[in-house]
Amino acid sequence: MPGDPLEGQEVLQQVAHAPLPGENAPAASNPAFRTYFASTPQDESAAQQRAEEAQKLLAAIVASSDDAIISKTLDGIITSWNNGATRLFGYSAQEAIGQHITLIVPRELWPQEDEILARLRRGIHIDHFETSRVAKDGHLLDISLSISPIRGEDGTIIGAATIARDITHQKAMARQLREREEQERFLTEVSKVLTSTLDYQETLANIARLIVPRLADWFAVDLLDAEGHFQLIVLEHQNPEQVEWARALRERFPIDYEASVGLPQVARSGRSELYPEITDEMLVAAARSEEELAIARQIGYSSLMLVPLVARGKTIGVVTFVATESGKKYNARDLALAEELGRHAGVALDNARLYKEAQQARDQLEIILQGVADGIIVYDKGSRIIYANEAAARMTGYASVENLQRARPLEPTRRFEITDEEGRPFPLDQLTHKRVLAGERKAQAIIGYTQKAGGRPERWSHVTSSPVYDERGEILFVITITHDITERVLAERRKDEFISMASHELKTPVTSLKGFTYVLQRRLRNQSDAQVLHYLERMDAQLDKLTRLVSDLLDLSRMQVGKLDLQRAPVDLDALIAETVENLQATTLTHRITIKGATRAQVFGDEDRLAQVFINLLTNAIKYSPSANRVEVHLAREQNCAIVRVQDFGIGIDEAHQEQIFERFYQVTDPEEKTYPGLGIGLHISKTIVERHQGRIEVHSRKGQGATFSVFLPIGERSGKSDHQAERTG
Ligand code: ADP
Repeated sequence: MPGDPLEGQEVLQQVAHAPLPGENAPAASNPAFRTYFASTPQDESAAQQRAEEAQKLLAAIVASSDDAIISKTLDGIITSWNNGATRLFGYSAQEAIGQHITLIVPRELWPQEDEILARLRRGIHIDHFETSRVAKDGHLLDISLSISPIRGEDGTIIGAATIARDITHQKAMARQLREREEQERFLTEVSKVLTSTLDYQETLANIARLIVPRLADWFAVDLLDAEGHFQLIVLEHQNPEQVEWARALRERFPIDYEASVGLPQVARSGRSELYPEITDEMLVAAARSEEELAIARQIGYSSLMLVPLVARGKTIGVVTFVATESGKKYNARDLALAEELGRHAGVALDNARLYKEAQQARDQLEIILQGVADGIIVYDKGSRIIYANEAAARMTGYASVENLQRARPLEPTRRFEITDEEGRPFPLDQLTHKRVLAGERKAQAIIGYTQKAGGRPERWSHVTSSPVYDERGEILFVITITHDITERVLAERRKDEFISMASHELKTPVTSLKGFTYVLQRRLRNQSDAQVLHYLERMDAQLDKLTRLVSDLLDLSRMQVGKLDLQRAPVDLDALIAETVENLQATTLTHRITIKGATRAQVFGDEDRLAQVFINLLTNAIKYSPSANRVEVHLAREQNCAIVRVQDFGIGIDEAHQEQIFERFYQVTDPEEKTYPGLGIGLHISKTIVERHQGRIEVHSRKGQGATFSVFLPIGERSGKSDHQAERTG
């Protein structure tokens, strides 16, 4: 009975005969099952019984199958319909049987169904054919069909048995997998494309190319500036007209920064917004005027996503993805993809921006460095030049910065005779960048250059080198700044020459004046003219001062050319101090000089030169304490050192000047205080003399609180040179 799906004998017969496709026919594919039915029965009743058994079994299989098993005539009329079919398509057997098979075929697939029927008529099996069907409730099912022709007793084809399996789930899984793979491919491409350049404009163009049209019909990137305002930096659409509309909208209707949704909110919260469907009502609700609404309608929004651009944990802008004519409706998956893209794009844009800024800063710096008058050279750890400016090239006699940069280490210095301040050859390992590479934190030197070939006149430079360290504290490079001081050095040299000449010229007349005064004094003493004698004594005292000034200047000149001679012999320091103090006490009525303590030391040195030091210190002590009435000399010894301290109670010296007062011609000039006579060379000479005795001189003072100058001299030590051998200052 073809009307009954379970009892339909022909169907079952055919199903039993037809090779059931794979796993859809567990019984048929079971070898034991096949052997049983294939073996020749013993007698007829047994054969009959076995046929019935087989029918029942097959009926049971069909009934219990999870798959839909349907049979139909060659005209497409459904003749059997199992429970699986009811479960799958929702129609009961009663509803389905007798209906045309197009009951469950989507309209657009009807031609396909005709095709299937035609093939069946020709006896062709159809295996695992994937198509779709409609269920009773109208929803589409993905189906895998296996269709076999059903033959009548006479062997002619009378219908078809269809086994349908729901593969909607597998299909969905496969689609998801494909989508995921595609997304991954896309994201790989995103990261590859976005890391391919540091150029800002190129990065923007890349972002645009990745997004349009794949993810959006048009998109916009708005970056937040320092004030938190949006800067629309890119707007991209396949259709330029649309870009104009979007731009017009933005220009005419500025962003409402207070709005609780949209760009400002995404920027504030760092959370994306997804509008799967943009309806006209939404446009109406959002528009602030008729005009805005008209433009928004022109754009033809279909769906919208706003995604934050994130870099270094901060939202730096917002990307707007808009679907328009494609009619695409964004879903959560699209949003996830857009967000991922936002992260990549944020980092890429941030990097490109930083790079652009760094490059701009470098360009600016380069302009400044190339413009400065000082020579700037940067060396690497191997003394190779990695940067030089034009002044450096000029100073080292190279035609261009490139030529200098190509030079081998030390080559620039080898082109010159280089000397120190005293004109001695300058050791190359003492060049300032070498000293820094050897560990000094800052190295300075005054260097004279005379070009070996080309005979350029000598030049003088003040050279300073300092290191740049890496994060591990190791030297990365050394920056050397060369300041040309040729003019200064030459001017000083002229001044020295003048002083030398002037002091020599002055010495002769002063000496003869001194001689004539002496003769006059003797004559007048005999005539006992007290008044004239008094004037003469004052003249003599002034002449002494003049003599001292002239001899100081002479000493200075000698020191400059390294010709300050020392006549060394053992000196009783206490006696020398006592004598010096006594002599000076005779010249002052204002101050009382007292000696405290004793050194009980003999030093090996030039008595006159040492006396000169103490005279200088005591004269200064008196000169710079006009309101005081005493000066103290403290004598002491410490281990192998004799210490002479000259303490006054005068104007004192501000700390800022304490180092410089030992430089030649240095005088503290304070507009508030009265000026004191002097040339600013006494302390310089004193320091040189003390150092020539292997000693040192120090000052302790505070402004307004007096000063103490301490001289430290080694006791009794011979310097190894003979007493009368002339030494030269260094
Ligand atoms: P000067 O001929 O100017 O005294 P010096 O070389 O002896 O030259 O001293 C240098 C400078 O040091 C002086 O001009 C003065 O400003 C300062 N100075 C030296 N000694 C004293 C002192 N005892 N108290 C205060 N200032 C002093």
